[in-house]
Amino acid sequence: MGMPPGRLGMTSTPGPAGALPIPLAELCERARRPGGVGAWLRAGEGVGWCAHPVRLSGGVDHADSRSGEVRSVVDGANQPDGVLLKACGTRRAARCPACAAVYRRDAFQLVRAGLAGGKGIPESVAGHPMVFVTFTAPSFGPVHTRRERGGTVAPCHPARLGDHCEHGRRRACWHRHEGDDPILGEPICADCFDYRGAVVWNALAPELWRRTTIYLRRVLARLVGVSRAELGRQVRVSYLKVAEFQRRGLVHYHAVVRLDGEANGADAGVVAPAGFTVEVLARAIREAVGAVTVPSPPALAWGGAGGGWVGPRLIRWGEQLDLRVLSHEHGDQGEGDGGGEWSAARLAGYLAKYATKATESFGAGLDRPIRSAGELGALGVPEHVARLVRACWELGGRAGLTGLGLRRWAHMLGYGGHFTTKSRRYSTTFRALRAARRAWQNRRRHGPAVPLDRDGHVLPPEGVAVVAAWAYAGSGYTLAGDAWLAAQMAAQAREMRRVAHEELASVPLVLVEVA
Ligand SMILES: [Zn+2]
Ligand SMILES: [Zn+2]
Ligand SMILES: [Zn+2]
Repeated sequence: MGMPPGRLGMTSTPGPAGALPIPLAELCERARRPGGVGAWLRAGEGVGWCAHPVRLSGGVDHADSRSGEVRSVVDGANQPDGVLLKACGTRRAARCPACAAVYRRDAFQLVRAGLAGGKGIPESVAGHPMVFVTFTAPSFGPVHTRRERGGTVAPCHPARLGDHCEHGRRRACWHRHEGDDPILGEPICADCFDYRGAVVWNALAPELWRRTTIYLRRVLARLVGVSRAELGRQVRVSYLKVAEFQRRGLVHYHAVVRLDGEANGADAGVVAPAGFTVEVLARAIREAVGAVTVPSPPALAWGGAGGGWVGPRLIRWGEQLDLRVLSHEHGDQGEGDGGGEWSAARLAGYLAKYATKATESFGAGLDRPIRSAGELGALGVPEHVARLVRACWELGGRAGLTGLGLRRWAHMLGYGGHFTTKSRRYSTTFRALRAARRAWQNRRRHGPAVPLDRDGHVLPPEGVAVVAAWAYAGSGYTLAGDAWLAAQMAAQAREMRRVAHEELASVPLVLVEVA
């Protein structure tokens, strides 16, 4: 069970052994206020125990157009402290564990429905040609790595004894690094590492992905022997991808790519025609990854004598491509850990986990945009990551490179793309999942027959206009006791969900490594 952040304890009393202090005086203050703890708990539950809810003052009125009668249906003044709470809704776990957990569950459903069906997606998608691919960045200089081969850990960077780089540093690292060694991802020689090249690659990764999806269709058409127009009539490439930061600070993409039959805009359940096999899909992806490039901005090359730097003229994928065929094994296969067997649920859980992360795992200061050069010195991150951030700041200020958005995305090491994206027909949508959840809550609150719109909001009666007037009153909790209680309740809710999730039945799915 997670503990609330320590900074909340203002007026505090030591809690149980190992626990953080309980802000007793502040809890008493909440109990004294109108509505007491009971009303506050109802409000907190209403926002799913969000850690930083938005506080709104105002309310919603219903105006009857015939009688002219105006009736208040929601009044912030009746809420604890006279404000209505609204969940912050972030996807980032470091900002709000409660809202990120909701996002992660939605991402899980989204991924899983595309793998095995459900949530309005036909189960037959499970039988479509489908691969799980990890697209990586190229090398920008050797970094400390853990290499596992056949169950044993190989030396990090074997090189000849006495082999030194131009900075006089040894090129070799004979360590067999542990999985949690903090040096993993750090360059062997920081001066050899191309920090500018790395952040430019991060900035252009979304464009590289976009071009790859286009090129993939071109290769598919050629491999099957149809025109590109004909390909569009026969098949659709559906995908879902999630971005993740590697320890060396470069983005990589995990993606599920699926081939569906095209049937005049029908659902995703149509099987692709003969010839569009999973082997053809895998071959087309490999070919596209090897061939696709993005030209880097011409302003990237500058210098002249001595101190110049010439960036890569073309951005491309790294040589490492992890591609696995997804095939369903119905029967009593189970979902063992060994043999590369992954259930749809496990793969969905794996991808959903990345969907709630960004750069925060590198350390403090990267959870929001950097606004001035002065903030660069105050980052609580390893030197390697700090150098990536500084490279963003430096390049981002150069004429001709502002279009890359490197300063705006310096806290993301240059990456300005989305973390979870999908093609339209891969699966259901976040919007549909949120609407379903809202509808379920509203039916529970107002009865099963309550009329709802497509987003799950309660529709007003005929002839009634909704007049909503809200004003921003701040964000976060005003009492340390409130924040402490919300954190406790959120942790408890997560634990209950975890237990329920482990009992979830799953469709067995097998990942087959392709040479
Ligand atoms: Zn939140
Ligand atoms: Zn090493
Ligand atoms: Zn060096």
